[in-house]
Amino acid sequence: MPLVSLKEVLDWAEAHNAAVPAFNIDNIDIAQSLMLAAEEEQKPVILAVGQGAIRVGRLDLLASVVKTLAARSALPVVLHLDHGASFEQTVACIRAGFTSVMFDGSSLPLRENIEQTRLVIKAAHAVGVSVEAELGAIPGAEDGIVGNGPAKVSVAEVEAFINGVDVDALAVSIGNAHGLYKSEPKLDFELLRSIRKLKAQVPHLVLHGGSGLQDKVVRSAIQEGVRKINVATEIRLAYLEGLRATMDSRDIYTYISVARSFVMNVAKAKIQLFTAEEN
Ligand SMILES: [Zn+2]
Repeated sequence: MPLVSLKEVLDWAEAHNAAVPAFNIDNIDIAQSLMLAAEEEQKPVILAVGQGAIRVGRLDLLASVVKTLAARSALPVVLHLDHGASFEQTVACIRAGFTSVMFDGSSLPLRENIEQTRLVIKAAHAVGVSVEAELGAIPGAEDGIVGNGPAKVSVAEVEAFINGVDVDALAVSIGNAHGLYKSEPKLDFELLRSIRKLKAQVPHLVLHGGSGLQDKVVRSAIQEGVRKINVATEIRLAYLEGLRATMDSRDIYTYISVARSFVMNVAKAKIQLFTAEEN
């Protein structure tokens, strides 16, 4: 089916008390492996293109790949821009067929973040594309973006932001970090609860830095209302391990199938964890 918007799959997640994984894709093999995992689990999936992939010239190439994979499938698939760097970049993605764009204005002063995000929303919503914003820079490095803002967002900041911006999804820093965790992270669920109480309808909440989080922490985050969880590092590492395991092979299809199965195993486990039904 054609690609769907981020809002559509996050509304599904809300109704099912689940989260949808946003996996970063860097090449065709990874994108195809993730789609096969989603097919096996029969769950919606968000395929995200990040700044690293864009730097090596893959914005429109990966957009074409994801559109083709979605067209072959009956599952809801979202093509998402991760950590959009500028208004211009979000517009380029919308033109390339993305159905969701993140604008990361977390390093800007709050007022400027609100103004820029509003501009992105005006362009995106005009053509049915969803927008994710970010508040309180997430520490750690990803795709060359190094977060150096406050470790946690404040409730007052979130309140000012969501009163000024009609955003579909909001990434908040609650003690999470990009990359793999060096020590066990302590996510501030009290902060999440306070954010959710701000309004009858707060934007869907997003957790970046889903790689290496303990299963029970992830389940608690979902119970507290997180609807999208980003997983980049674990997918990349699985792919690289698959390549390493077959480095001596002289058959290119051996490495493709082994790397694919490594990525699929990680992705299927995440999908199962994020969509597990609890009684
Ligand atoms: Zn992120």
